[in-house]
Amino acid sequence: MCGIIGYVGKKCNLKELLIKNLKALEYRGYDSSGIAIYDDNIKVIKSQGKIEELEKKLKTIDIKNSSLGIAHTRWATHGIANDINSHPHRVGGVTLVHNGIIENYIKLKNDLIDKGYNFLSDTDSEVISALLDYIKKEEKDNIKAINKLAKQLEGSYALEIIFDGDYDNLYAIRKDSPLVIGICNGFNLIASDITAIMDYTKKYILIDDYEIVKLSKDKVEIYNNDLKIIHKDIQEISWNIGEAKKNGFSHFMLKEINDEPNVLKATINEYIKDINTLIEKMPDFSKYNMIHIVACGSAMHAGLVGKYIIEQYAMVPIVVELASEYRYKNNFYDDKTLVIFISQSGETADTIAALRNVKKDNIDTLAIVNVVGSTLAREADQVLYIRAGVEIAVATTKAYLLQIAMLILIGLNMAYVKGNLSADELNKVLKEFQIIPTKIQKIIDKKEECLKLAKNIYKMEHAFFVGRGIDYALSMEGSLKLKEISYIHSEAYPAGELKHGTISLIEEGTNVIGIMSSSDLSNKTLSNIKEALARGANITLIVTEETDKHFDFPCQKIVIDKVNNVLQPLLIVIPLQLIAFEVARLKGCDIDQPRNLAKSVTVE
Ligand code: GLU
Repeated sequence: MCGIIGYVGKKCNLKELLIKNLKALEYRGYDSSGIAIYDDNIKVIKSQGKIEELEKKLKTIDIKNSSLGIAHTRWATHGIANDINSHPHRVGGVTLVHNGIIENYIKLKNDLIDKGYNFLSDTDSEVISALLDYIKKEEKDNIKAINKLAKQLEGSYALEIIFDGDYDNLYAIRKDSPLVIGICNGFNLIASDITAIMDYTKKYILIDDYEIVKLSKDKVEIYNNDLKIIHKDIQEISWNIGEAKKNGFSHFMLKEINDEPNVLKATINEYIKDINTLIEKMPDFSKYNMIHIVACGSAMHAGLVGKYIIEQYAMVPIVVELASEYRYKNNFYDDKTLVIFISQSGETADTIAALRNVKKDNIDTLAIVNVVGSTLAREADQVLYIRAGVEIAVATTKAYLLQIAMLILIGLNMAYVKGNLSADELNKVLKEFQIIPTKIQKIIDKKEECLKLAKNIYKMEHAFFVGRGIDYALSMEGSLKLKEISYIHSEAYPAGELKHGTISLIEEGTNVIGIMSSSDLSNKTLSNIKEALARGANITLIVTEETDKHFDFPCQKIVIDKVNNVLQPLLIVIPLQLIAFEVARLKGCDIDQPRNLAKSVTVE
């Protein structure tokens, strides 16, 4: 979603600094950007499109030295992406940037119109500026004014605010959208994301819902909902800055695929030295006889892979649900149910809301997240970090791989503690786990083969991914990866389901991409693929040494090593990611920042 960044401190070339920081937030996905800088008066400059457009405008404006500014990359929710709807929004004596959605903005807007306010934009965010300006007419204290504002806003927000006349301070508040303060020397920063501050400092403070921040160049004041100053711990960023750079790769996505052997190795070192480590490092799963997995997008697809594994090995029923649905429906659980929430960023709005609902019912919760200290990590009863490092490309690769790895470990752990897997069998799998990074590297090294497959796929407008069992779960992610970065319309189907309607869409040349990882179901899948072939489909196959048959029909294929079934998904995902990448590259798409998409989905 959108990114926000604010600066207060010694005079500097703030134009350059804010642009640099906005670029660090670019990966989150956006459609316009803007900044407000105090320089004798407040100057607001905004532009639709890429940050370069904003930079061009800024060149024509003379601001050399300034000590206070806020900046924003917008991911439009209310009102199209244009200059006027871009942030910051300035009404009366209030200038602010907003990340999130104000759900009651229409009522607030109508009330403010009755009070004489005019609105220039279609956004919900401009309403916040106007409301705060109105509150300020009575309430002179800025902290109290923000507190009163929060009481009237419904929805989600991270706000950074400049008040006219108070140019030594920057104010902020959040609800359900992330905010982090970067403690620097002679200045301070506040942003939606650690990547925007990590070039300047390793020291940060995470802000919680309804806390109000007053930031000056050498002081940080944080007030709670009762307007009392509170102390919050300063934390240290453990990532290294180099991780957020491309390191010679053409794209972040490619770099992150290439990171996969190493990040998986780190997970193995942490959890899989031996059975004892696996048991000690994880929660005690023995008491649970039901698991719900709740997530969005690729994380939900990882959950589906987990479902097949945990059900098969630990013999525990698993319900996998989209967080955006789960949060609004009746869910059936009891004190022997564990609800697992998966999110790379740990800030996914729907997943956080679903977690809060479950916690109200006193059900045990576990978060699987990448970002240390994120909201999900802090609020769930227990957390397992996947430690993928910084993931910049909007389309997840290494985080998805590690989410699957973590679910495999949970499945193995549960199977063992519940007596469904012997120590010998577990040891055997853990041993084989050690060689998976090398096998992943072997597939990455076959990138020419993936490029060849991509050349067979990229010209067509449609694609269907098919597989049975766990291969179907993997198809879901293969399909999403392809469509999100290459804009080819793509769907995933259980192979046996295609003929119940969707096969009517197969015509000469339609892409059908089949996954056949193990011999158990491959003959069945093969029959379904032949049905598509008989209707003219262009077939691409991802097979293992075990399922590689001498196919008696024209098809392109990649053959990968056969490993224990429980570990096989860790290999299958790699060609899926590489094929999607190569297709998008052949089509000349903006791979790291696909249109309309955001890295961390912090709105409903
Ligand atoms: N809802 C606001 C808008 O549409 C903010 C969107 C964002 O988070 O970028 O302008």
